[in-house]
Amino acid sequence: MPNIVVVGAGVSGLTSAYLLSKNGANTITVVAKHMPGDYDIEYASPWAGANVLPMATKASSRWERQTWPELKRLAEEVPEAGIHKMIAGVPAGEGPREATQGEYAFDGLFKENPWYKTLFEDFRELSKDELSRDVASGAEFTSVCINTMLYLPWLVGKCRANGVVFKRGVLKHISEAAAWSHAGGSKKVDFVINTTGLMASRLGGVADQDVVPVRGQIVVVRNEAPYMVTKSGTDDAEDEVFYIMTRAAGGGTILGGTYQKGQWESQPDPNIAMRIMKRAVEMVPELADGKGVQGLDIVRHGVGLRPYRNGGVRLEKERIEGTWVVHNYGHAGWGYQGSYGCAERVVELVDEASNQPKL
Ligand code: FAD
Repeated sequence: MPNIVVVGAGVSGLTSAYLLSKNGANTITVVAKHMPGDYDIEYASPWAGANVLPMATKASSRWERQTWPELKRLAEEVPEAGIHKMIAGVPAGEGPREATQGEYAFDGLFKENPWYKTLFEDFRELSKDELSRDVASGAEFTSVCINTMLYLPWLVGKCRANGVVFKRGVLKHISEAAAWSHAGGSKKVDFVINTTGLMASRLGGVADQDVVPVRGQIVVVRNEAPYMVTKSGTDDAEDEVFYIMTRAAGGGTILGGTYQKGQWESQPDPNIAMRIMKRAVEMVPELADGKGVQGLDIVRHGVGLRPYRNGGVRLEKERIEGTWVVHNYGHAGWGYQGSYGCAERVVELVDEASNQPKL
């Protein structure tokens, strides 16, 4: 009976715990400083839009490829997961940005003739007369938008139904994880799954200095958008982006945003907020019935920090103080759309280590 402690209850930790819990032989405890329902600058998952717009630059990358079928299935068959289908438009504007992360890049989305054109059944390139003058190319396809306020608690419920136990706790060092197992001190912990996101940069025993925030400021409004749009680059600033998506089941519409690498500021900047709203009503006037910014009905302003990692996501196992630690952190802006692919790799790594001869 492998005894496993998952550190972190964001989308990476919850999906890892859920897939591990499908094996009834595993005993699993999730310990986290922040849980679904919390809003905190150290906790990225609640702030995400979240939709699926691929960012992998190589067709061989498996994380998003393996995640899409499951998120699509949830949107089609499991209404309580809080995911719905929506048309996405991705016009490629001007604006180079430094956001490459291993095999992932924000600009991966805007490549002409992208690898993901075969992933989405109705993918089509937009013709010149469907694009505005500042846009060189673009595409349209049916994707999904996740209401993170419903989806994260749904994942907790799926884990609990499989016997996973949740605890609140703050770890200073990854080796403290073993003490949180609900199996009790007499039972040795076999695996610790490290899904601490941005805070992997500060956790003792990990302290990964390649992990840095990419600040994302958003505005949540009650208005509904008829479709999702994400555009590379804006005329306003190099580190500002444009996206808009309406969450499932009354979750509001997310207007974004920014892509500010290295910035930890947790408070929304009112000037940026105004630019975000202006861009949204210019790009999609129907959002506010043609009334401009005045026609927007604001729920809240927010800031989330994407857990970016120079060199890309860390998905590997290592022994720390005699215990196997499987790392799954550093997903930057694609944590949801890669969640199942990455969690499947966590399960593989646990299986591999379980089958290795004991040291
Ligand atoms: P987190 O959600 O940050 O969770 C980390 C967990 O670890 C928390 O529970 C925390 O409390 C815990 N923890 C950390 N340190 C400790 C410690 N020392 N002790 C105990 N617990 C600890 N992704 C998409 O796929 N699609 C999108 O459309 C999208 N849009 C986004 C928009 C914005 C504005 C932002 C900010 C992000 C967006 N993302 C999107 C990215 C996505 O949100 C992240 O990649 C994802 O949430 C990362 O999840 P995580 O579980 O790895 O980390």
